[in-house]
Amino acid sequence: MPDVKTLLDEVAQLRLEREKQNKVVQALKDRVRKSVQSSGTSYAIFENSILFQNEIKRQTQELNQAKEAAEAASRAKSEFLAAMSHEIRTPMNGIIGMTGLLLDTSLSKDQKEYAETVRNSADALLSIINDILDFSKIEAGKLDLEIIDFNLRSMMDEIADMLAFKAEDKGLTFVSFLHPAADGFVRGDPGRLRQVLVNLANNAIKFTEAGEVTIWGEVESETETNTVIRFTVSDTGIGIPERALNNLFRSFTQVDASTTRKYGGTGLGLAISKQLVELMGGSIHVKSIESRGSDFWFSINLEKQSPDSPHRKNLQFDFSYKRVLLVDDTKINRDILRLQLGSWKFKTEEVSCGEEALELMRIRAHEGRPFDLCILDMQMPGITGETLGKAIKDDPQLHNTRLILLSSMVLSEEARSLREQIFDSCLTKPIKQKQLYDCLVGVFNKSNLDMLDEPRIVHEEELAGTPIKTFRILLAEDNIVNQKVAMKMLEKFGYRVDSVANGLEAVIALRSIPYDLILMDMQMPEMDGLEATRQIRLEEKDRKHTPIVALTANAMKGDRERCIKAGMDDYLSKPIDRVLLKEKLDQYLKQNIQVEEVA
Ligand code: ADP
Repeated sequence: MPDVKTLLDEVAQLRLEREKQNKVVQALKDRVRKSVQSSGTSYAIFENSILFQNEIKRQTQELNQAKEAAEAASRAKSEFLAAMSHEIRTPMNGIIGMTGLLLDTSLSKDQKEYAETVRNSADALLSIINDILDFSKIEAGKLDLEIIDFNLRSMMDEIADMLAFKAEDKGLTFVSFLHPAADGFVRGDPGRLRQVLVNLANNAIKFTEAGEVTIWGEVESETETNTVIRFTVSDTGIGIPERALNNLFRSFTQVDASTTRKYGGTGLGLAISKQLVELMGGSIHVKSIESRGSDFWFSINLEKQSPDSPHRKNLQFDFSYKRVLLVDDTKINRDILRLQLGSWKFKTEEVSCGEEALELMRIRAHEGRPFDLCILDMQMPGITGETLGKAIKDDPQLHNTRLILLSSMVLSEEARSLREQIFDSCLTKPIKQKQLYDCLVGVFNKSNLDMLDEPRIVHEEELAGTPIKTFRILLAEDNIVNQKVAMKMLEKFGYRVDSVANGLEAVIALRSIPYDLILMDMQMPEMDGLEATRQIRLEEKDRKHTPIVALTANAMKGDRERCIKAGMDDYLSKPIDRVLLKEKLDQYLKQNIQVEEVA
């Protein structure tokens, strides 16, 4: 049996062992706690960061979906608007066309008034529809520029013609002028450029009660191949308050409700103009002072046509330093005449009233260098153009001076007969470059002028003499109302017209009759306009080329390309604009004459 001491030793030994074990366990516990503590924190961070990332992902996904949905909705809205406007334009063709024809018949006073109201309302409706169509096409990204060669100078003249009546009705001086230093033979989208300028000028006329509205184009910078033209449309109208300037180019923005009531409009014009200018690579700006007037301006970069472009028709005569006196109380008219005549080598002097004119003319005559020509305005304070003209013709020292009268569009009977007695020629305001040139050539009588070496210009009037009755046109259109409208327009112009109701009939008709031109609707049953054109071009190989002009209510991006690709020469959008139709017909039928003359 073990003794007590041994047992006590063994107990002490066991205690020692247990204490050691406890320490080890404690150390292990500490390590585990530490490790649990540290792994617990990083896990929480890890877990949190994953949650966070997932949340971001989810939110981004939701945002993207919402953005895509919003964009799709906006696109759908724009496409819907574009499609609707297009659908509405088709019957508008019938309304406008037929009312125009109705107005050409003999009507009682009341009937005429009713028909005119229909036409004015239809025109107003069409312009709103066109605005909406343009706006939605731009928004849906479906508007493309059509880049072609054009004459900017003629375009500015056309705008003058188009808006002069409106301005004159309000008694405003109206000017649309491209500085003579600018090269007018350029490449760009004339339709869209004209749209912006007309838009701005229409606003300028609308918001101006007295004074001037001017469209001014000048060179901002130039290289051998390109020219940057700055266009400014200015008015002396009601102006725009500063607070409204920032939002002016937003859609559906009008300065205030009372203005809206007084002047009407959709508030889309400036938004469209801004978008179109940006599409053409420029930006639009405005500066305005309330009750003083506004300036809207933009610059666009246009490619120049090559020097040997067939569109460049050089001027034929050299006025070699003929001396001319300008008499007009309106400074802007004198500015234009000075710039324009100066570019044709005239030596100009100017005065602002009849009294000064007579005085200066007598001085120059006395000095032995009398004026060859005097251009005088009809309406001037003090001595009127009429009295001044008479005084010049009655003065033996001055009566050899040629006289050109500047008058407004509407000439009274009295003024007309006076014009023939006293004046060599009469120019209607606004002054247009081509009209001015032709008038000067007439007044100086060609034999008095030096011929330049350049080729002869064929003026439109000369070609207008070609009897158009000899031209035969084929109209392919399935809609019976539209067919009638187009037929009547063409017959009124004096053309012989046959009509067919689908593309197949057009192909067959052309096999037996050599039409001079075909107007071809795009959408037709049996065979559409594109297919018919392809077929005609295929069969045409041994015949002469027949110009085909598409008639389309679509006017959407890619339509022009599709027409041209199918072999068409051009297109006209519906409702058919009489003036545009005549222009296109003239263009293609004239080409026909020239080709035949050369051949
Ligand atoms: P609309 O003329 O159809 O109302 P716009 O977008 O062309 O639409 O013009 C928006 C607004 O800007 C006009 O309603 C008018 O308040 C103001 N505005 C535009 N041009 C002029 C101007 N030349 N003079 C004064 N206000 C102008």
